Amino acid sequence: MTFPVIGVVGGGQLARMMAPAAVAMGFEIRVLAENETVSAVSAIPRAQVGDYKELETLRRFARDVDVLTFDHEHVPTRYLETLQSEGVNLHPGPKALVHAQDKLVMRAAIERLGLPNPRWAEVTDVAGVVGFGDTAGWPVVLKTPRGGYDGKGVKVLADAGEAAAAADWFDAGALLVEEKVPFSRELAVLVARSPSGEARAWPVVHTIQVDGVCDEVLAPAAELPEDVAAAAQAAGLRVASELDVTGVMAVEMFETPGTREGFMINELAMRPHNSGHWTIDGAVTSQFEQHLRAVLDLPLGDTGLIGGAAVMKNFLGGANDDLYSAYPEAMSTDPGAKVHSYGKSVRPGRKIGHINVVGQSTAELATLRKRAGRVAGIISTGRQATQETS
Ligand code: ADP
Repeated sequence: MTFPVIGVVGGGQLARMMAPAAVAMGFEIRVLAENETVSAVSAIPRAQVGDYKELETLRRFARDVDVLTFDHEHVPTRYLETLQSEGVNLHPGPKALVHAQDKLVMRAAIERLGLPNPRWAEVTDVAGVVGFGDTAGWPVVLKTPRGGYDGKGVKVLADAGEAAAAADWFDAGALLVEEKVPFSRELAVLVARSPSGEARAWPVVHTIQVDGVCDEVLAPAAELPEDVAAAAQAAGLRVASELDVTGVMAVEMFETPGTREGFMINELAMRPHNSGHWTIDGAVTSQFEQHLRAVLDLPLGDTGLIGGAAVMKNFLGGANDDLYSAYPEAMSTDPGAKVHSYGKSVRPGRKIGHINVVGQSTAELATLRKRAGRVAGIISTGRQATQETS
């Protein structure tokens, strides 16, 4: 057998969703999981528990795999550099990954590439934030460069008084401050690039966040001017090639009609991403299949839509803590909806799965949203609750 072994650091839902793609193509996938209960463990037989913040653990895990890749971006850069210098084949590599780990490094790179950034500055104290706000205009957005996710580590400051109240944010060091972009909607461009340089982009999507958490994704973004869509995809591909990104990368963007490019870059994620979950059912090649192809330096798959449109709706932990009990109702309500559950225990507000529905054109997006929302609602609130309220 010459099929490759892929090692994934981190056992969240992204690692879990790589498993069906690996199985389909005949690859073995292994995971270095945080503990026995994380999402990927029940989907990947060769899961081992270990701390990704320990070099020795990473070394041992990497020893028997053909390629090492990631479910998240939290492995310390210096360990990745060590592993790479020891000959581990890892994708994305540390030089690329740091742009997804550190928002200050990312902002500087986007600026260097001449791609559309919001106004930004590195600040080390409240006076720096006030100086920036007084020049760029209030409100401003203060961000921790590392470790933020789902809106944690992001704070909107209305004025100098609010900036003063955020003084404790500087305990951990320098921060990123940005203008608060008056965007019309949030977009994302998902791209994949292989080590030999082949790259492909999926259609630009519209992402909808609720309380900082990705809630819905509409593919493609409806009524996005063709030149803006093309420029956004080109920007994603350019970032991938200039930063030597390997695997899947999501570029989160703001749509800004009236600016020169019509969009600005928000942040980068170098792994499969929530904005690409629709591709499992809605694109010829899913982001998970593509990620595996890319990190193995195989030819990339077609990124076109299967129909003309798709909607993904996340479901969060809610009143129903027995998800399966709602499946009969959810599945009979909409036989065309695809349920993806992450095998996580239910906690209020925790992202535990998503629904995909696929249609033929963007004219159907409103209907697709209703359908996906209905099924997601049944699962997170439970059959009883839905019956009572309907
Ligand atoms: P995270 O790393 O937690 O995903 P982001 O930098 O993506 O953090 O910010 C989370 C959300 O906050 C974004 O999806 C967007 O809605 C809002 N946001 C972030 N930066 C800005 C900005 N400069 N202007 C306006 N809104 C912003």
